[in-house]
Amino acid sequence: MKIRVAKNIGFCSGVNRAINLVENELKKGNKVYILGELLHNKQEMDRLQRLGIEVVEDVSIINTNFRCSLVIRTHGVARSVYEELLRLNNINIIDGTCPIVKRNQEITKEWTNKGYNVIIYGDPQHPEITALISYVSPSVKSYIITCKEDAENLDILEHDKILVISQTTKQVDEYKKICDLLTTKYKNIKVFNTICKETINREKEVVEIAKTVDLLIVVGGKHSANTNKLMTISKNYNNNVIIVSSEDEIENDFFNYRHIGIISGTSTPMWQVKKIIEKFSTVECKT
Ligand code: SF4
Repeated sequence: MKIRVAKNIGFCSGVNRAINLVENELKKGNKVYILGELLHNKQEMDRLQRLGIEVVEDVSIINTNFRCSLVIRTHGVARSVYEELLRLNNINIIDGTCPIVKRNQEITKEWTNKGYNVIIYGDPQHPEITALISYVSPSVKSYIITCKEDAENLDILEHDKILVISQTTKQVDEYKKICDLLTTKYKNIKVFNTICKETINREKEVVEIAKTVDLLIVVGGKHSANTNKLMTISKNYNNNVIIVSSEDEIENDFFNYRHIGIISGTSTPMWQVKKIIEKFSTVECKT
């Protein structure tokens, strides 16, 4: 059996940065709260909880009689929430918003303040988008679209000023189709390529690997959007694709395949990937 492990694997830089921020606060001996789940990976969240973090959905339950730290997750938070957090006493706010997500917020703020209406390609319920929308100037309109068909049906005047951006983790091919359509349709349009390069690299690599292996294992949380995206893309090239979140989910029949590929979502820790590789340790691993 041959195992091909992706080069782009484990945490992305944004998640890695946020985890480091949390661990540094814990090392200082501070009580550390996270506003919402830091990442969509149960095992890593369990590990951080064992180290002492506490996840809160509402800051009002934090006991501010004692000095503590609160980490904002990579997706960021709404502008009003951020401003409210800064007003709290005794809470050290650590901004774990990924710099790439932050850039999206800044673009949105700057161009909508200049009078541009904004079209956002993203999932309306995703925390990155619910936070991003709060940066839109109240004087313009915003439209969240999830596919090219939505872009075709937009009710916008041809000469309106339009900003186009994407959620950082959306599929690059679909975004390109959307941008091509919108730039032909509208005259006064400003398009930003805001999809994260790390997710683009993973998309490219997953296609390459999916074409060459008998079974593709995507390591990651079953509720992680980027893990599911990798599975969806790879299924266009390979029928045997499975999401595995722990080594206990490796089934006996996996050992019958001659060539296995292993990739991971951006919120999957490397230790989780290694445990899965170790399960196949009787065979030589090829990277
Ligand atoms: S996937 Fe990209 S944008 Fe999202 S947290 Fe990671 S580095 Fe940041």
